[in-house]
Amino acid sequence: MSLYSSIFIIRGGNLVMYELTTIVEFEAAHRMADYPGKCSRLHGHNWKVEVTVAGNSLDNIGMLIDFRLLKQKVNEIIETLDHYYLNELEDFRDQNPSAENIARYIFQKLGAQFAKNITLQQVKVWESPHSAVAYRED
Ligand SMILES: [Zn+2]
Repeated sequence: MSLYSSIFIIRGGNLVMYELTTIVEFEAAHRMADYPGKCSRLHGHNWKVEVTVAGNSLDNIGMLIDFRLLKQKVNEIIETLDHYYLNELEDFRDQNPSAENIARYIFQKLGAQFAKNITLQQVKVWESPHSAVAYRED
C-alpha cells in the first residue's frame, strides 16, 4: 500500500474515507494448466472487474477522482486483456491466468497511476456471476 495510506483525517473521532468503485467488463479465453477437471480445456469468460480506490481529501468541486478518469485508467489495462487468449500473453506465460493472477495483474498495473491523495484499495475479478476473487496489498 502506498505511503499515503497511513495518512488519515479524523473528524469527531471517526476516520474519514471516501471509497469509489468502478466496474468494467471484458471477454477473454483461458485454460488452467494442470487443473484436474474441465477448466484445463480452452474456454472463455465474461470477466467483470471491480476497482476500488480510496482517499480522504476531495478536490475543489467535491470529488475524490472523476469516475470518467478512473474508468479510463482501468480500461487502458483491460485493453491488454480483452478478446485475448490469456495464456498466450507475456504476463501469463509462466503462471495460469486464474482470476487470482488476473486480479493481481490489474492491481499492479494500475497501482502506480494515481495522484498521491488516492490509494488503490482493491481489485475484484468475477469470472462468473457467483465466483469472484479480491486482491489487495495491505
Ligand atoms: Zn475459466
